[in-house]
Amino acid sequence: MTARLIDGKAFAADLRVRIAREVAALEKRGITPGLAAVLVGDNPASQVYVRSKGRMTQEVGMNSFEHRLSADTPQADLLALIGRLNADSAVNGILVQLPLPRQMDESAVINAIDPAKDVDGFHIQNVGRLATGQKAMVPCTPLGCLMLLRDQMGDLSGKSALVIGRSNIVGKPMAQLLLRDSATVTIAHSRTANLPDLCRQADIIVAAVGQPCFVQGDWIKPGATVIDVGINRAGDRLIGDVDFDTARHVAGAITPVPGGVGPMTIACLLANTLTATARANGLPDPE
Ligand code: NDP
Repeated sequence: MTARLIDGKAFAADLRVRIAREVAALEKRGITPGLAAVLVGDNPASQVYVRSKGRMTQEVGMNSFEHRLSADTPQADLLALIGRLNADSAVNGILVQLPLPRQMDESAVINAIDPAKDVDGFHIQNVGRLATGQKAMVPCTPLGCLMLLRDQMGDLSGKSALVIGRSNIVGKPMAQLLLRDSATVTIAHSRTANLPDLCRQADIIVAAVGQPCFVQGDWIKPGATVIDVGINRAGDRLIGDVDFDTARHVAGAITPVPGGVGPMTIACLLANTLTATARANGLPDPE
């Protein structure tokens, strides 16, 4: 058996085309969505992310505003900038690229963003809203995983899902989204006992561990859908958290790395910016 490849790159490209269409429709009403990205310091990976986010924002017809601050910026200056962006009606989405330099309190910074403009979905209000089933801005990577899962499997209701990893940016919101879709969700982490056995019971595995080739093919239930969030660098190659070479012979469908979840993250950031713009203008959420 060979698993179906879940082409996140193609799905994300299609999503961006649909977003561009919605942006063009907004343009006719005199509305241009705007996304502000704030980068503090000179972390090379963050610079690459912010640059490609800016490029794709412009490609779908949105305004992209970039703010670069030096690594030794006092937190008060960053908070003042966030305050100005909150008040700026041309800015519908604000993202502060993480990680922040050591002198900054990450949660204080994130919680200073207007929750309605919090397109990363990390503000405590959005986390609480998602957990209590209210309209929220949802973190981009798990949102992208959910879109791929729905596309592959349709209704997720009653499926057994195992999320490996419990971070605030991937694992926990992923579990919330699966629960919202009525899957039966288990969350595993570094203290979980008998992880291979738990995996063997799951119709859906989402691996967000940060360890290359961690999930083995013989842990996977035949026919299961496997979403590999991991991005691990090995020289100039990227490797996922799933041992793709063994998993692809057992799984029913699997995301490759690269070209699976990765491209979905930026596309979902644009989708969230569009949603934030619609809500700010009293329009219904885009499909
Ligand atoms: P974190 O390091 O914050 O979390 C990793 C999680 O994995 C933790 O909950 C940890 O458990 C768990 N874990 C670690 N070792 C084991 C183990 N041996 N058995 C079971 N669980 C374990 O990572 P992130 O959630 O931020 O990211 C996860 C991966 O996803 C990374 O490779 C990252 O690069 C990638 N990523 C990809 C994105 C994309 O766009 N595709 C976006 C964001 C992340 P514990 O809590 O007990 O320590």
